[in-house]
Amino acid sequence: MTDRTSLQTALIHNDYRAPDGFSALPQAIHHASTVLFKDVASMRSRNWQDKNAYTYGLHGTPTTFTLEARLAAIEDGKHCVLAPSGLAAIALVDFAFLKSGDDVLIPDNVYNPNRELANWLQQDFGITARYYDPLIGSGIAGLIQPNTRLIWTEAPGSVSMEVPDLPAICQAAHAKGVLVALDNTWAAGLALRGFELGVDIIMQALTKYQSGGSDVLMGAVITQDKALNQRLETAHMRLGFGVAADDVYLVLRSLPTMKLRFEAHDAAARTVAAWLQARPEIAAVLHPALPECPGHAIWQRDFSGAGGLFSVVFDPRYSEAQTDRFVDSLQLFKIGFSWGGVHSLAVPYRMQHMRSNWPHQGQLVRLNIGLEDPQDLIADIEQAFKAMQA
Ligand SMILES: *Cc1c(COP(=O)(O)O)cnc(C)c1O
Repeated sequence: MTDRTSLQTALIHNDYRAPDGFSALPQAIHHASTVLFKDVASMRSRNWQDKNAYTYGLHGTPTTFTLEARLAAIEDGKHCVLAPSGLAAIALVDFAFLKSGDDVLIPDNVYNPNRELANWLQQDFGITARYYDPLIGSGIAGLIQPNTRLIWTEAPGSVSMEVPDLPAICQAAHAKGVLVALDNTWAAGLALRGFELGVDIIMQALTKYQSGGSDVLMGAVITQDKALNQRLETAHMRLGFGVAADDVYLVLRSLPTMKLRFEAHDAAARTVAAWLQARPEIAAVLHPALPECPGHAIWQRDFSGAGGLFSVVFDPRYSEAQTDRFVDSLQLFKIGFSWGGVHSLAVPYRMQHMRSNWPHQGQLVRLNIGLEDPQDLIADIEQAFKAMQA
């Protein structure tokens, strides 16, 4: 900078460079839209798909590439693409692998916004979306059409908790050249080895256990296959699904404790679920580790643990007004969507509006078991049962 450089320019351009040699444990947060090139030739020769180099903030920074590599490692994947929410990650899979004229199969117990998106694709984008019984197993072969491109799975469905037979579905799908995508949010990539069971694409809502703080929205799509990843990267570039560096940092900060938190959620949820099972107010506890949960035997075969999320079905003698009063009376459990954070949450769902063949008469309430002492959570539920019946 010369003496004649104006103050205004000097406020923008300055020569200070941090010395090399700084070393600390946290990952640095790199904020960038613009990425600088040293000359035009290097700008022209750089490829946005090359993860060893940088082209534009949207296509990655050292911060996002670090999180992608760590998430891929957790799932035994090779590639990972981040998206600004779990739902955006679902959309990324749909846009990468479906086109007009294609058919997608979706489990009837799927995370509801996945269904909303699929219905929109059907209505306005020339794609057909059909729903299957999540317990269909190898019977899925009978639903596969020549134009079926993708089968979504979710293990277990995150409200009604049926556990699908992934190896059977994958075998039937692959016999006909159809891709299988798994929403692995419930098991956080820890308790279910999706690629070992045969799935091609794993999607996760990092909003849940990876964040763990109820403060970040983010998603990821993980693959082992380079060609599949390239389709995802291309869709990601075309859609402009950027993620914020500070949010990526929050996930990186939480990731080292995820397994310990997950195990604590699991243990607490099983304690609360077992207590609920013995209660006269409850007709069914839909927790995959309990025999009364549809698909329990598959959970035993394929999973090494359980998340903190499960549902209860009340005895039909309790009206919706009463079970609403139960939820309103809870003190430690808060009312709100999402899960995977340290706070316990409760949400009532109207299953008759969400499912084609819902077998239960009683009201369903979904519980996210946080990291409070489970005995305090049990005491809270017990007082809310009393309030419900008063
Ligand atoms: C929360 C959730 C999503 C979506 O994640 P968002 O970040 O909230 O968009 C997708 N699938 C499942 C199973 C979820 O629980």
